[in-house]
Amino acid sequence: VNYTKDEIRQIVKDENVQFLRLMFTDIGGIIKNVEVPVNQLEKVLNNKIMFDGSSIDGFVRIEESDMYLYPELDTWMIFPWGSEHGKVARLICRIYNTDGTPFMGDPRNNLIRVLDEMREAGFTDFNIGPEPEFFLFKLDDKGQPTLNLNDKGSYFDLAPVDLGENCRRDIVLEMENMGFEVEASHHEVAPGQHEIDFKYSNALAAADKIQTFKLIVKTVARKHGLHATFMPKPLDGINGSGMHMNMSLFHDKGNAFFDEKGEMQLSDDAYHFLAGLLSHARGLTAIANPTVNSYKRLVPGFEAPVYVAWSGKNRSPLVRIPASRGLSTRLELRSVDPTANPYLVIAAMLEAGLDGVRQKAEPQPAVDRNIYRMNDDEREANHIIDLPSTLHTALKVLQGDEVLKSSLGPHLYQSFLESKRLEWASYRQVVSQWERDQYLELY
Ligand code: GLN
Ligand code: MG
Ligand code: MG
Ligand code: MG
Repeated sequence: VNYTKDEIRQIVKDENVQFLRLMFTDIGGIIKNVEVPVNQLEKVLNNKIMFDGSSIDGFVRIEESDMYLYPELDTWMIFPWGSEHGKVARLICRIYNTDGTPFMGDPRNNLIRVLDEMREAGFTDFNIGPEPEFFLFKLDDKGQPTLNLNDKGSYFDLAPVDLGENCRRDIVLEMENMGFEVEASHHEVAPGQHEIDFKYSNALAAADKIQTFKLIVKTVARKHGLHATFMPKPLDGINGSGMHMNMSLFHDKGNAFFDEKGEMQLSDDAYHFLAGLLSHARGLTAIANPTVNSYKRLVPGFEAPVYVAWSGKNRSPLVRIPASRGLSTRLELRSVDPTANPYLVIAAMLEAGLDGVRQKAEPQPAVDRNIYRMNDDEREANHIIDLPSTLHTALKVLQGDEVLKSSLGPHLYQSFLESKRLEWASYRQVVSQWERDQYLELY
């Protein structure tokens, strides 16, 4: 809804809103909040709330740390879970410098910039339908997460096996209270694992929704004595959690990927966009799979992609083209996991695809066979390369991809690289149990 300032003033009175939570997302995809009492409403509405940017990962240095929060009025929402002190409402904000220019270390500002480029290229909308997956673990008596799953259910199971069902149903209800249109919600393949798919929206709204969604899931899970995690691979030996991204590009005449007369009823632009996604797929991995743990998910045998390939028929490759046509013609990128910063990964997917459109690139042939049953030679003959297998290699590949670097812009690219290199440097120092089990006695 597009609220005016006056409408928000009125709602605050009518609903007895006591706190305003100003939200934005840091480079690691973590939601940050500045909460102010309602007596600050006029300052909030007039873009006068300041915060210290130097305390946020990847933002600015101490010397230039004053930043302003500019709330986006159409993101106004009252949280359905009240506090004893009155209702809490939130606004998602853009971050501005003191000189009144948008701060380009803000992932949301960057997505807005990339969307402007898309309009210059002649398109009107980039629509995103995410499929986030997550695990529910039991909390212990001190409220700390354990590694005990809350059920033994599996794909599409129903209660009583699916004890997570009540929790998931509550999540869906809260989502609907907050204006989401939930398309599907089901138990996933692994025990304790769930998926909730929501209706596609334009790129910016979709990224906002992904962030709000994670907050809802974690909040509701807690009420059920559970911890919800979006960590990509919390337990080895069973499936990890992905966040498949369905995407479509629109122009004035509708879905730019659809062409009744095209091969597989796909337009030339659909093939060019697909080619762009595939040719930047390796560089995209650092952004789509930005944690050390992300790479424990991208291994054979657990329904997660490992190789760069596409298909209109089978589900195993990196990019799948779901069967629906017309308005819902779309590409599904299956590598993305829920630790990806949605603003960054959507900007990167869009730039990758647009690069293909600009170059009029043609995709490699579709692979309709099961890639995991091919041997190395067969894969090579089919020009199938693999995705980077560690965060370290993924960062290296990103460094060589100018298109993806420009999708982040210089500020975000630098801070992303710095923060992720630190993460890798810290991980390398740790000796794992696997290594001790393998080597301690053998050598
Ligand atoms: N959990 C799988 C992944 O890691 C996806 C399973 C599915 O949705 N079919 O991507
Ligand atoms: Mg799904
Ligand atoms: Mg799934
Ligand atoms: Mg899917």
